Amino acid sequence: MHLDSFLSVINACRFCFMCRHIDTTACVSYKESDIPRGRALILDRVRMNGMAEFERHPDFAATLYDCALSAACRYHCVSNYDEAGLVLAARRDLVEAKMVPADVAALAGKLQQGAMPGPISPDCPAPTTVANADIAYLIDGYTAAYQPEVAVAFLKIAAAAGLKVQVVRPEGCIGKALLTLGYQAAAKEAAAAFAQTVRESGIATWVTSSPAAYDALVRDYPELGVELGVKVEHTSTYLLGLKLPLAAANQTVYYLDSDFLRNYHDLTVPPRDLLAACGYTLRPFGTNPEESYGLGEGAVVFDLLRPGLTGKLRDRLVGLMDTPDDLLVTASPYTKYVLAKLGTPAVRVLSLEEAVAGQLAR
Ligand code: SF4
Repeated sequence: MHLDSFLSVINACRFCFMCRHIDTTACVSYKESDIPRGRALILDRVRMNGMAEFERHPDFAATLYDCALSAACRYHCVSNYDEAGLVLAARRDLVEAKMVPADVAALAGKLQQGAMPGPISPDCPAPTTVANADIAYLIDGYTAAYQPEVAVAFLKIAAAAGLKVQVVRPEGCIGKALLTLGYQAAAKEAAAAFAQTVRESGIATWVTSSPAAYDALVRDYPELGVELGVKVEHTSTYLLGLKLPLAAANQTVYYLDSDFLRNYHDLTVPPRDLLAACGYTLRPFGTNPEESYGLGEGAVVFDLLRPGLTGKLRDRLVGLMDTPDDLLVTASPYTKYVLAKLGTPAVRVLSLEEAVAGQLAR
């Protein structure tokens, strides 16, 4: 079993309560099975008694897919025990044992047909082929379907910087969502196909607004043995390196850390520096800076698999706002989608790209 590679995590987490207050799912479910200790105790039983434990207790597998995978607990654990990696390993075991819950299998099937997360918006910039492009700009599924304004804002900034940009808009999963659900073989196949597109482009620098896509290309692909041979940047670091004609903003904003940027790549400073360079005044969000406010971003398609929990995460975030008029900024198209399009009350939220584009000097 893949979870055997995480025995040190099971042994550490099963007797530890230290991060229970920042587990993303547990903060809204209030269930002890949703903290790293609960999941480690479940998987310790599986380790001892085998995969048949999942047949005896169907709620075990459901609990593993309730996990929002923010990795906030790992990031703030004093020993960085990989509680998120443990869940991913167990999900892979479930898939390979053909014991995955029916709702997960149905979602994975749709992902493999290239239909998710939703149909491409007519307002999304179309793919282009550009001779001698400076960069390729990768548009993720959530931006393409629900947040085309994120891509439009990035291209506006790139034009102001005089960059030649080739727009790339994959029509299906590039591997990230499938890998997160435990479908490693299918994820590798999707990754290999997309990597071929990347290599054949001949463009040396690839930029994306999606922290999930960034994590896929920078961390997942090497772990899957898929070669890219290009430099990959998230827009937060890429835009920070440009000399942009900016007018100083006179606004206070609350920046919400991305699960992937902060908890998987320790990128907390560049997004804040970028907003500060635009003249925004930053205020800390919420009552505990260790919590995740990504709303299930780390689980990539959490809104599709667990809409009820996603709604509770959104409600919790709204309840933590200082005032209903607070202006939030997120680096994640997924998080912006949940905040802007799923549920009420309406929330004022911008992507990093929109926050920067709005300050371009006329
Ligand atoms: S991740 Fe660290 S803090 Fe959290 S339960 Fe495991 S050992 Fe304890």
